[in-house]
Amino acid sequence: MKSVSILGSTGSIGTQTLDVIRINKDIKVVALAAGTRIKELAEQVREFKPELVCTATEEGAKELAALVPDMQIKIVYGKDGLIEAATVKEAQIVVTAVVGMMGIVPTIEAIKAGKDIALANKETLVTAGHIIMKLAKECGVNIYPVDSEHSAIFQCLNGENKREVRKLLLTASGGPFRGRTVEQLADVTLEDALKHPNWAMGKKITIDSSTMVNKGLEVMEAQWLFDVPVDRVQVVVQPQSIIHSMVEFVDGGIMAQLGSPDMRLPIQYALYYPHRRELNSEPVDFFKLGKITFEEPDMETFKGLKLAYMAARKGGNIPTAYNAANELAVSKFLNRKIKYLDIPESIEYAMDNISYLDNPDVNQILSTEATVYEMIESRW
Ligand code: MG
Repeated sequence: MKSVSILGSTGSIGTQTLDVIRINKDIKVVALAAGTRIKELAEQVREFKPELVCTATEEGAKELAALVPDMQIKIVYGKDGLIEAATVKEAQIVVTAVVGMMGIVPTIEAIKAGKDIALANKETLVTAGHIIMKLAKECGVNIYPVDSEHSAIFQCLNGENKREVRKLLLTASGGPFRGRTVEQLADVTLEDALKHPNWAMGKKITIDSSTMVNKGLEVMEAQWLFDVPVDRVQVVVQPQSIIHSMVEFVDGGIMAQLGSPDMRLPIQYALYYPHRRELNSEPVDFFKLGKITFEEPDMETFKGLKLAYMAARKGGNIPTAYNAANELAVSKFLNRKIKYLDIPESIEYAMDNISYLDNPDVNQILSTEATVYEMIESRW
Protein backbone atom coordinates (compact mmCIF):
# COMPACT_ATOMS: atom_id res chain seq x y z
CA MET A 1 0.00 0.00 0.00
CA LYS A 2 1.29 3.43 -1.00
CA SER A 3 1.44 6.18 1.59
CA VAL A 4 0.91 9.83 0.77
CA SER A 5 1.12 13.20 2.42
CA ILE A 6 -1.13 15.92 0.99
CA LEU A 7 -0.14 19.55 1.37
CA GLY A 8 -3.18 21.70 0.65
CA SER A 9 -5.81 19.05 1.34
CA THR A 10 -8.88 21.31 1.49
CA GLY A 11 -8.22 23.09 -1.81
CA SER A 12 -9.45 22.07 -5.23
CA ILE A 13 -6.57 19.66 -6.02
CA GLY A 14 -6.43 18.40 -2.42
CA THR A 15 -10.09 17.42 -2.26
CA GLN A 16 -9.92 15.79 -5.70
CA THR A 17 -6.81 13.87 -4.61
CA LEU A 18 -8.77 12.56 -1.62
CA ASP A 19 -11.58 11.69 -4.00
CA VAL A 20 -9.19 9.55 -6.06
CA ILE A 21 -7.91 7.90 -2.88
CA ARG A 22 -11.48 7.30 -1.69
CA ILE A 23 -12.38 5.58 -4.98
CA ASN A 24 -9.26 3.38 -5.12
CA LYS A 25 -9.10 2.43 -1.43
CA ASP A 26 -5.46 1.31 -1.57
CA ILE A 27 -3.53 4.45 -0.64
CA LYS A 28 -2.88 5.39 2.94
CA VAL A 29 -3.00 9.07 3.86
CA VAL A 30 -0.31 9.68 6.46
CA ALA A 31 -0.36 13.46 6.64
CA LEU A 32 -2.70 16.29 5.71
CA ALA A 33 -1.91 19.99 5.67
CA ALA A 34 -4.45 22.73 5.12
CA GLY A 35 -4.75 26.47 5.64
CA THR A 36 -7.81 27.86 7.34
CA ARG A 37 -10.69 25.55 6.40
CA ILE A 38 -10.54 23.75 9.72
CA LYS A 39 -14.01 22.17 9.67
CA GLU A 40 -13.36 20.54 6.30
CA LEU A 41 -9.96 19.44 7.55
CA ALA A 42 -11.56 17.85 10.64
CA GLU A 43 -13.91 15.86 8.40
CA GLN A 44 -10.95 14.70 6.31
CA VAL A 45 -9.11 13.66 9.48
CA ARG A 46 -12.10 11.56 10.58
CA GLU A 47 -12.39 9.89 7.20
CA PHE A 48 -8.73 9.29 6.32
CA LYS A 49 -7.15 9.00 9.78
CA PRO A 50 -3.71 10.49 9.09
CA GLU A 51 -0.98 10.41 11.74
CA LEU A 52 -0.02 14.04 11.31
CA VAL A 53 -2.09 17.12 10.51
CA CYS A 54 -0.87 20.64 9.87
CA THR A 55 -2.82 23.91 9.95
CA ALA A 56 -1.65 27.37 8.93
CA THR A 57 -1.85 28.89 12.41
CA GLU A 58 -1.66 27.91 16.08
CA GLU A 59 -5.25 29.07 16.45
CA GLY A 60 -6.29 26.70 13.68
CA ALA A 61 -4.41 23.85 15.34
CA LYS A 62 -6.32 24.44 18.59
CA GLU A 63 -9.62 24.65 16.76
CA LEU A 64 -8.85 21.36 14.99
CA ALA A 65 -7.84 19.66 18.25
CA ALA A 66 -11.17 20.66 19.76
CA LEU A 67 -13.05 19.18 16.80
CA VAL A 68 -11.31 15.78 16.91
CA PRO A 69 -10.47 15.25 20.61
CA ASP A 70 -10.93 11.48 20.33
CA MET A 71 -8.42 11.00 17.48
CA GLN A 72 -4.82 9.87 17.98
CA ILE A 73 -3.13 12.45 15.77
CA LYS A 74 -0.24 14.84 16.02
CA ILE A 75 -1.27 18.39 15.17
CA VAL A 76 1.34 20.90 14.02
CA TYR A 77 1.11 24.33 12.39
CA GLY A 78 2.84 27.03 10.38
CA LYS A 79 5.90 26.81 8.16
CA ASP A 80 7.68 24.26 10.35
CA GLY A 81 4.54 22.18 10.55
CA LEU A 82 4.25 22.16 6.77
CA ILE A 83 7.82 20.89 6.49
CA GLU A 84 7.01 18.17 9.04
CA ALA A 85 4.00 17.14 6.96
CA ALA A 86 6.17 17.12 3.81
CA THR A 87 8.83 14.91 5.36
CA VAL A 88 6.75 12.58 7.55
CA LYS A 89 8.61 9.29 7.62
CA GLU A 90 5.97 6.94 6.21
CA ALA A 91 5.05 9.04 3.18
CA GLN A 92 6.34 7.82 -0.18
CA ILE A 93 4.64 10.49 -2.27
CA VAL A 94 3.99 14.09 -1.31
CA VAL A 95 1.19 15.87 -3.16
CA THR A 96 2.17 19.55 -3.19
CA ALA A 97 -1.13 21.32 -3.73
CA VAL A 98 -0.61 24.44 -1.63
CA VAL A 99 -0.99 27.68 -3.54
CA GLY A 100 1.90 30.13 -3.66
CA MET A 101 5.56 30.37 -2.85
CA MET A 102 5.14 28.78 0.56
CA GLY A 103 5.24 25.49 -1.37
CA ILE A 104 8.93 25.81 -2.24
CA VAL A 105 10.71 24.98 1.01
CA PRO A 106 8.50 22.00 1.99
CA THR A 107 8.95 20.58 -1.53
CA ILE A 108 12.74 20.89 -1.25
CA GLU A 109 12.69 19.21 2.16
CA ALA A 110 10.46 16.40 0.87
CA ILE A 111 12.87 15.75 -2.01
CA LYS A 112 15.83 15.71 0.41
CA ALA A 113 13.89 13.16 2.48
CA GLY A 114 13.61 10.97 -0.64
CA LYS A 115 9.88 11.44 -1.27
CA ASP A 116 8.47 11.36 -4.78
CA ILE A 117 6.55 14.51 -5.59
CA ALA A 118 3.12 14.79 -7.19
CA LEU A 119 3.59 18.39 -8.16
CA ALA A 120 0.59 20.68 -8.17
CA ASN A 121 2.27 23.81 -6.83
CA LYS A 122 3.30 25.89 -9.83
CA GLU A 123 5.50 28.34 -7.96
CA THR A 124 8.01 25.64 -7.03
CA LEU A 125 9.35 25.12 -10.53
CA VAL A 126 8.68 28.63 -11.80
CA THR A 127 10.87 30.20 -9.14
CA ALA A 128 13.22 27.38 -8.15
CA GLY A 129 13.23 25.01 -11.11
CA HIS A 130 17.02 25.20 -11.37
CA ILE A 131 17.33 24.02 -7.76
CA ILE A 132 14.49 21.48 -7.67
CA MET A 133 15.27 19.51 -10.82
CA LYS A 134 18.94 19.14 -9.92
CA LEU A 135 18.10 18.12 -6.37
CA ALA A 136 15.50 15.60 -7.50
CA LYS A 137 18.08 13.98 -9.78
CA GLU A 138 20.66 13.85 -6.99
CA CYS A 139 18.17 12.34 -4.56
CA GLY A 140 16.75 9.86 -7.09
CA VAL A 141 13.29 11.34 -6.63
CA ASN A 142 10.57 11.34 -9.28
CA ILE A 143 8.51 14.42 -9.99
CA TYR A 144 5.08 13.57 -11.34
CA PRO A 145 3.17 16.51 -12.79
CA VAL A 146 -0.41 16.93 -11.63
CA ASP A 147 -1.33 19.93 -13.76
CA SER A 148 -3.43 18.67 -16.69
CA GLU A 149 -1.12 20.12 -19.37
CA HIS A 150 2.09 18.77 -17.90
CA SER A 151 0.50 15.44 -17.17
CA ALA A 152 -0.58 15.31 -20.83
CA ILE A 153 2.99 15.99 -22.00
CA PHE A 154 4.32 13.46 -19.48
CA GLN A 155 1.89 10.88 -20.90
CA CYS A 156 2.85 11.75 -24.51
CA LEU A 157 6.54 11.26 -23.65
CA ASN A 158 6.02 7.75 -22.33
CA GLY A 159 8.62 5.50 -23.93
CA GLU A 160 9.97 8.31 -26.11
CA ASN A 161 13.47 9.69 -26.33
CA LYS A 162 13.71 13.22 -24.95
CA ARG A 163 16.30 14.17 -27.57
CA GLU A 164 13.78 13.46 -30.32
CA VAL A 165 11.36 16.14 -29.11
CA ARG A 166 11.01 19.15 -31.42
CA LYS A 167 8.58 21.11 -29.32
CA LEU A 168 6.01 20.97 -26.59
CA LEU A 169 2.57 22.25 -27.54
CA LEU A 170 0.91 23.49 -24.41
CA THR A 171 -2.81 23.92 -24.88
CA ALA A 172 -4.84 26.73 -23.34
CA SER A 173 -8.58 27.30 -23.16
CA GLY A 174 -8.02 31.04 -23.63
CA GLY A 175 -10.18 31.69 -20.57
CA PRO A 176 -13.43 33.65 -20.32
CA PHE A 177 -12.06 36.73 -22.15
CA ARG A 178 -10.71 35.07 -25.26
CA GLY A 179 -11.29 37.28 -28.30
CA ARG A 180 -11.52 40.53 -26.32
CA THR A 181 -9.37 43.61 -26.86
CA VAL A 182 -7.30 45.39 -24.21
CA GLU A 183 -9.94 48.15 -24.09
CA GLN A 184 -12.61 45.57 -23.37
CA LEU A 185 -10.57 44.17 -20.49
CA ALA A 186 -10.26 47.52 -18.69
CA ASP A 187 -13.53 47.22 -16.81
CA VAL A 188 -13.59 43.50 -16.17
CA THR A 189 -15.12 42.75 -12.77
CA LEU A 190 -14.12 40.12 -10.25
CA GLU A 191 -17.32 38.19 -10.99
CA ASP A 192 -16.55 38.10 -14.73
CA ALA A 193 -13.01 36.91 -14.13
CA LEU A 194 -14.15 34.11 -11.82
CA LYS A 195 -16.24 32.47 -14.53
CA HIS A 196 -14.02 29.91 -16.24
CA PRO A 197 -15.65 28.27 -19.27
CA ASN A 198 -14.42 24.68 -18.72
CA TRP A 199 -12.59 24.05 -15.47
CA ALA A 200 -13.79 24.39 -11.87
CA MET A 201 -10.74 25.52 -9.89
CA GLY A 202 -9.63 27.61 -6.93
CA LYS A 203 -10.06 31.40 -7.14
CA LYS A 204 -6.41 32.33 -7.66
CA ILE A 205 -5.89 29.94 -10.55
CA THR A 206 -9.21 30.96 -12.10
CA ILE A 207 -8.05 34.59 -12.23
CA ASP A 208 -4.67 33.43 -13.53
CA SER A 209 -6.43 31.51 -16.29
CA SER A 210 -8.40 34.58 -17.32
CA THR A 211 -5.22 36.69 -17.62
CA MET A 212 -3.29 33.80 -19.22
CA VAL A 213 -0.70 34.21 -16.47
CA ASN A 214 -1.56 30.61 -15.59
CA LYS A 215 -0.40 29.56 -19.05
CA GLY A 216 2.70 31.69 -18.62
CA LEU A 217 3.52 29.91 -15.37
CA GLU A 218 2.92 26.58 -17.09
CA VAL A 219 5.31 27.51 -19.92
CA MET A 220 7.99 28.25 -17.33
CA GLU A 221 7.27 25.01 -15.49
CA ALA A 222 7.34 22.96 -18.68
CA GLN A 223 10.89 24.06 -19.56
CA TRP A 224 12.12 22.70 -16.21
CA LEU A 225 10.00 19.57 -16.03
CA PHE A 226 10.86 18.40 -19.53
CA ASP A 227 14.25 20.07 -19.95
CA VAL A 228 13.28 21.93 -23.12
CA PRO A 229 14.31 25.54 -23.89
CA VAL A 230 11.40 27.93 -23.40
CA ASP A 231 11.29 28.89 -27.07
CA ARG A 232 10.45 25.31 -27.90
CA VAL A 233 7.35 25.48 -25.72
CA GLN A 234 4.47 26.78 -27.83
CA VAL A 235 1.06 27.77 -26.52
CA VAL A 236 -1.89 26.69 -28.65
CA VAL A 237 -5.36 27.95 -27.76
CA GLN A 238 -7.84 25.05 -27.86
CA PRO A 239 -11.04 26.46 -26.39
CA GLN A 240 -12.92 23.19 -25.77
CA SER A 241 -10.20 21.96 -23.33
CA ILE A 242 -10.32 18.44 -24.78
CA ILE A 243 -6.69 18.26 -25.91
CA HIS A 244 -4.71 18.69 -22.71
CA SER A 245 -1.37 19.21 -24.50
CA MET A 246 0.79 17.72 -27.24
CA VAL A 247 4.38 16.86 -28.10
CA GLU A 248 5.85 17.31 -31.57
CA PHE A 249 8.79 15.05 -32.39
CA VAL A 250 11.68 15.61 -34.82
CA ASP A 251 9.98 13.60 -37.55
CA GLY A 252 6.94 15.88 -37.41
CA GLY A 253 4.82 13.28 -35.63
CA ILE A 254 2.62 14.71 -32.90
CA MET A 255 1.30 12.90 -29.84
CA ALA A 256 -1.65 14.41 -28.00
CA GLN A 257 -3.47 13.45 -24.84
CA LEU A 258 -7.20 14.01 -24.88
CA GLY A 259 -9.95 13.65 -22.33
CA SER A 260 -12.77 15.43 -20.55
CA PRO A 261 -11.64 18.28 -18.32
CA ASP A 262 -11.40 16.28 -15.08
CA MET A 263 -8.41 16.88 -12.80
CA ARG A 264 -8.84 13.50 -11.15
CA LEU A 265 -7.26 11.85 -14.20
CA PRO A 266 -3.86 13.60 -13.94
CA ILE A 267 -3.99 13.26 -10.15
CA GLN A 268 -4.64 9.54 -10.36
CA TYR A 269 -1.99 9.13 -13.07
CA ALA A 270 0.58 10.83 -10.83
CA LEU A 271 -0.33 8.64 -7.85
CA TYR A 272 -0.24 5.33 -9.76
CA TYR A 273 2.30 6.00 -12.51
CA PRO A 274 3.06 4.02 -14.68
CA HIS A 275 -0.32 2.33 -14.22
CA ARG A 276 -3.75 3.48 -15.20
CA ARG A 277 -6.82 2.87 -13.09
CA GLU A 278 -10.53 2.90 -13.81
CA LEU A 279 -12.05 6.34 -13.43
CA ASN A 280 -15.69 7.32 -13.73
CA SER A 281 -15.02 10.59 -15.55
CA GLU A 282 -17.26 11.72 -18.40
CA PRO A 283 -15.99 10.05 -21.60
CA VAL A 284 -15.30 12.32 -24.58
CA ASP A 285 -18.19 12.00 -27.04
CA PHE A 286 -16.64 13.09 -30.34
CA PHE A 287 -19.98 13.10 -32.15
CA LYS A 288 -21.53 15.41 -29.59
CA LEU A 289 -18.37 17.53 -29.49
CA GLY A 290 -18.37 17.90 -33.29
CA LYS A 291 -15.13 19.84 -33.54
CA ILE A 292 -11.97 20.82 -31.77
CA THR A 293 -10.69 24.24 -32.80
CA PHE A 294 -7.33 25.99 -32.55
CA GLU A 295 -6.16 29.59 -32.31
CA GLU A 296 -2.93 31.46 -31.82
CA PRO A 297 -2.72 33.10 -28.37
CA ASP A 298 -3.15 36.88 -28.37
CA MET A 299 -0.07 37.91 -26.43
CA GLU A 300 -0.61 41.63 -26.98
CA THR A 301 -3.98 41.59 -25.22
CA PHE A 302 -2.98 38.96 -22.68
CA LYS A 303 0.37 40.50 -21.85
CA GLY A 304 0.85 38.10 -18.92
CA LEU A 305 1.75 35.35 -21.37
CA LYS A 306 4.23 37.47 -23.31
CA LEU A 307 5.87 38.59 -20.06
CA ALA A 308 6.21 34.96 -18.99
CA TYR A 309 8.28 34.17 -22.07
CA MET A 310 10.40 37.26 -21.40
CA ALA A 311 10.87 36.22 -17.76
CA ALA A 312 11.83 32.69 -18.75
CA ARG A 313 14.39 33.94 -21.28
CA LYS A 314 15.95 36.28 -18.72
CA GLY A 315 15.94 33.56 -16.05
CA GLY A 316 17.64 34.15 -12.69
CA ASN A 317 15.22 35.75 -10.25
CA ILE A 318 13.01 37.32 -12.95
CA PRO A 319 10.47 34.44 -12.99
CA THR A 320 10.25 34.91 -9.21
CA ALA A 321 9.53 38.61 -9.72
CA TYR A 322 6.88 37.69 -12.29
CA ASN A 323 5.25 35.20 -9.97
CA ALA A 324 5.42 37.26 -6.78
CA ALA A 325 3.98 40.37 -8.47
CA ASN A 326 1.15 38.30 -9.88
CA GLU A 327 0.47 36.61 -6.55
CA LEU A 328 0.09 39.93 -4.75
CA ALA A 329 -1.77 41.64 -7.59
CA VAL A 330 -4.30 38.80 -7.83
CA SER A 331 -4.93 38.88 -4.10
CA LYS A 332 -5.50 42.64 -4.37
CA PHE A 333 -7.85 42.11 -7.30
CA LEU A 334 -9.74 39.44 -5.35
CA ASN A 335 -10.12 42.01 -2.55
CA ARG A 336 -11.28 44.62 -5.09
CA LYS A 337 -8.26 46.85 -4.36
CA ILE A 338 -6.95 47.11 -7.93
CA LYS A 339 -8.29 46.91 -11.48
CA TYR A 340 -8.00 43.91 -13.73
CA LEU A 341 -5.31 45.33 -16.01
CA ASP A 342 -3.23 46.33 -12.99
CA ILE A 343 -2.36 42.63 -12.74
CA PRO A 344 -0.14 42.49 -15.88
CA GLU A 345 1.03 46.05 -15.15
CA SER A 346 2.27 44.93 -11.72
CA ILE A 347 4.12 42.01 -13.25
CA GLU A 348 5.84 44.17 -15.84
CA TYR A 349 6.73 46.77 -13.23
CA ALA A 350 8.30 44.15 -10.95
CA MET A 351 10.25 42.56 -13.79
CA ASP A 352 11.60 45.96 -14.87
CA ASN A 353 12.56 47.13 -11.40
CA ILE A 354 13.92 44.15 -9.50
CA SER A 355 17.70 43.88 -9.47
CA TYR A 356 18.81 40.85 -11.42
CA LEU A 357 20.29 37.85 -9.68
CA ASP A 358 21.70 34.99 -11.67
CA ASN A 359 21.18 31.48 -10.29
CA PRO A 360 19.45 32.59 -7.04
CA ASP A 361 19.41 30.28 -4.00
CA VAL A 362 16.27 29.74 -1.95
CA ASN A 363 16.97 32.70 0.34
CA GLN A 364 17.50 34.98 -2.64
CA ILE A 365 14.27 33.71 -4.19
CA LEU A 366 12.38 34.47 -1.00
CA SER A 367 14.03 37.88 -0.63
CA THR A 368 13.15 38.69 -4.25
CA GLU A 369 9.56 37.85 -3.37
CA ALA A 370 9.66 40.16 -0.33
CA THR A 371 11.21 43.00 -2.37
CA VAL A 372 8.59 42.64 -5.08
CA TYR A 373 5.82 42.72 -2.48
CA GLU A 374 7.18 46.00 -1.07
CA MET A 375 7.51 47.36 -4.60
CA ILE A 376 3.91 46.58 -5.49
CA GLU A 377 2.56 47.74 -2.12
CA SER A 378 4.21 51.14 -2.49
CA ARG A 379 3.08 51.60 -6.07
CA TRP A 380 -0.54 50.31 -5.93
MG1 MG B 1 -3.22 23.71 -16.16
